[in-house]
Amino acid sequence: MKRKFCPNCGSDNIKWALPQNWSVWECYNCGYTGAVVIEDEELAKEISEKYEKDRNKKKE
Ligand SMILES: [Zn+2]
Repeated sequence: MKRKFCPNCGSDNIKWALPQNWSVWECYNCGYTGAVVIEDEELAKEISEKYEKDRNKKKE
């Protein structure tokens, strides 16, 4: 099975929001819910780096 990643933060800590509804995913890292997930690990890495940068920016 392929790994899946959150399109918002790049985390792979995502699960089906509803077990009876496979089309909705929930990210436990950023709270994203939606039908879109990423299966490209390279892309997920880029998103993750951008997400961390934005988060650090907000802290300053
Ligand atoms: Zn996320």
